[in-house]
Amino acid sequence: MIFFTKPYSFVKGGDSGVGKSCIVLRFVRGQFDPTSKVTVGASFLYAALAPLYYRGAAVAVVVYDITSPESFSKAQYWVKELQKHGSPDIVMALVGNKADLQEKREVPVQDGIDYAEKNGMFFIETSAKTADNINQLFEEIAKRLPRPSP
Ligand code: GDP
Repeated sequence: MIFFTKPYSFVKGGDSGVGKSCIVLRFVRGQFDPTSKVTVGASFLYAALAPLYYRGAAVAVVVYDITSPESFSKAQYWVKELQKHGSPDIVMALVGNKADLQEKREVPVQDGIDYAEKNGMFFIETSAKTADNINQLFEEIAKRLPRPSP
């Protein structure tokens, strides 16, 4: 998960390896670095601390890896947690990352679409590696952000 807390900083949490750091790095710096562990002002969030962030988060981006059905199941677990503990007006996005690995795909795109639709989430498949849909992801998030009160 990538949380956007007010005033819009990133907090990263949930399961590792799906590409959260790479997505943020691609968006913020236009780079993809498969080897180095990057930090882009994102702090790691442990499961025990997650509920503290749910409440303050304006946006939660739940990321899974399209080559990993296990990561898709875990993403669904996080969506349920957010529905239980998050603020009622939280903007939620479901992201199937590593879309460049089509030959290794194990989660059909339709499964992502269906799950997101059932849960009132915005859905997109991305590749941090090729930059495919990364800008679109953040643009769609920006469109859905609550307007700051005057
Ligand atoms: P995080 O733990 O969720 O933050 O995951 P990382 O951003 O550290 O990425 C985990 C691994 O997946 C790294 O080896 C990345 O190189 C790789 N990775 C991330 N995004 C992509 C992608 O879009 N395509 C491919 N092929 N690999 C990716």
